Amino acid sequence: MHTVLKSQLARCTVDDGGIDIPKLCELIDKAYSQFDIERARSERATRLMIAEIEAADAQREAILERWKQEHLKLDIALEHMAHGLAMFDGRGRLVIANMTYHRCVDRPAGTDERTFAGDLNQFKAKLIQSDLPLDDIPEMMAAGIATERTAELEDGHIILINFQPLEQGGWVQVLRDVTRQQRSDEQIRYLAEHDSLTGLANRVIFNKVIEQQLAKIPDGLSPAVLCIDLDHFKSVNDTLGHPVGDSLLREVADRLRMIVQEHGTIARLGGDEFAVLIVPGVDAASAEALALDIIGAIERPYLIDDHHIVIGASIGIAIAPDDGENTETLMRNADIALYRAKSDGRGLAQRFQPGMDEAVLARRLLELDLRRAIAVGEFELFYQPLMNLRSQTIESCEALIRWNHPTRGLVSPDDFIPLAEEVGLIVEIGEWTMLEACREAMSWPPHIGVAINVSPSQFMAKSLVATVKHALRKSGLDAKRLELEITESVLISDTDRALAVLHELRDLGVRIAMDDFGTGYSSLSYLRRFPFDKLKIDRSFINDIAHDAEAGAIVRAIIQLANSLGMATTAEGVEDRDQKDMLSALNCREVQGFLIGRPAPRERLKALLAAPVRKIAAA
Ligand code: C2E
Ligand code: CA
Ligand code: CA
Repeated sequence: MHTVLKSQLARCTVDDGGIDIPKLCELIDKAYSQFDIERARSERATRLMIAEIEAADAQREAILERWKQEHLKLDIALEHMAHGLAMFDGRGRLVIANMTYHRCVDRPAGTDERTFAGDLNQFKAKLIQSDLPLDDIPEMMAAGIATERTAELEDGHIILINFQPLEQGGWVQVLRDVTRQQRSDEQIRYLAEHDSLTGLANRVIFNKVIEQQLAKIPDGLSPAVLCIDLDHFKSVNDTLGHPVGDSLLREVADRLRMIVQEHGTIARLGGDEFAVLIVPGVDAASAEALALDIIGAIERPYLIDDHHIVIGASIGIAIAPDDGENTETLMRNADIALYRAKSDGRGLAQRFQPGMDEAVLARRLLELDLRRAIAVGEFELFYQPLMNLRSQTIESCEALIRWNHPTRGLVSPDDFIPLAEEVGLIVEIGEWTMLEACREAMSWPPHIGVAINVSPSQFMAKSLVATVKHALRKSGLDAKRLELEITESVLISDTDRALAVLHELRDLGVRIAMDDFGTGYSSLSYLRRFPFDKLKIDRSFINDIAHDAEAGAIVRAIIQLANSLGMATTAEGVEDRDQKDMLSALNCREVQGFLIGRPAPRERLKALLAAPVRKIAAA
């Protein structure tokens, strides 16, 4: 365009004189070229600027996009997070919250102008309880104090709410569903407080419950503790195995629940020991009546895995505050009474009485002593001869254990065998006796047998047959010379199993005698079910035989019965000639007693066996 201007200017030059047109044109040219340069420059600058701006825009777009992506992720994370999350501002208005929070507070997302107060009302509608109040949260947040609440909702959920104040005012609130954790905590607590086998309380919680009840004594309540111990449980466990033992314990627990119901707390203290706390309180008579009901229930036969099982129970009773004002004393005294009940004959309920402790202590000491005696070998066997009335010769000798106590001297088996049975030491003692007696018999003339006593729990222990086999093998004694004496109580608790063991022993060639016949149930059915080799008529009948017609009649009947069943008879406790003569007349096969010979140490017995036959017969 400036070219047009230049040509016009060139035409003007003719008329206007004076102006140096060419010069002017040159200047203009210059100016224009300068202008062109500037324009080109500015155009380039503009292009550059645009490019820069576009680049910046693109960068911003990218950042924005990235930010959007991040935001989206955060949103997704927030929305899908298991915890409820909400943020409130300094005035308690909801700033942001995720779905979980909304679900928990039951207001559709997007409801505008939500406040903490409004949400709290909503939340309270389904709240059963919270550990601490929720209304004071805004004040606590304003004071900058972080806090936590546990809330139990009516749908069974347990929510832990954490409130975290923010520096700029307001707070963040996190809701966590802790139902499962709490339930597992509860389960752990349950397991810690209960016996897993029976579901009954364990000792820890039982003691706690007693403590709580004792705190109420001033209100006139006197709770009673019953300590229960099962009789013969150990032999069931030993003979039928632990699974049957476990089922039996569960059944016992069920029977206890049936009887006690809501009147008390039942616990399993361990093994076959149970306890009941009767609340709110009872007098001695009703505590004893309940104890007898429990014994009756436990004694009813059980059918477990086709096994008929009969057990019993002994119970010790302690009533607060007379028998103990604190848990420890009450429990100890109930235990002492239980110990007494057991030693008085089992199947009994016994209330604690002052003075019982000493007797129990003595028993405990005896138990410790007995364990030591086994370890150091303080036992000795005495032998008592059994004489055949017809041939007037000794046929066998009964081994009778003695305890050579370092301070108490010779202790009678009646004073320690029952305890050894009770505390499970009888098996070890029995193993020793079996081997020792078989070995000793090997030193006697070969026609003389040896009789060994086997007590009920020893008989029911799984190891008996193996023990007998071992003793025979080790000593080299012919099985025919060995006679085992058992009492009929062996057949009462688990007849089938006892019969199986008897047959196993019989198969070894060992003879079996029924000891103390006439003192127990004397169930004739046992005699029919197992052909005993011998009946040993209890001393109590022989005592009176010479001057009591009734005793005489009983002995006569027993001998006739045994003879008709093909069983031999031994009369125990024969102390004088009259008794011996009478038994002879009644056709009794053997006699045993002080008249023939007292139980004697092995050396003395050996001398007796070596003596001429006439000397013994003349005794
Ligand atoms: P038991 O099997 O009835 O043994 C007979 C008991 O009567 C023995 O008592 C014996 O000394 C006593 N005796 C024998 N003849 C007479 C007599 O003419 N008059 C009187 N008054 N008593 C007589 P001991 O030795 O004190 O044994 C008592 C019980 O201890 C035994 O009764 C038996 O049941 C048990 N026992 C003894 N040794 C053992 C053993 O090694 N193992 C087991 N498990 N029990 C044993
Ligand atoms: Ca005996
Ligand atoms: Ca006897």
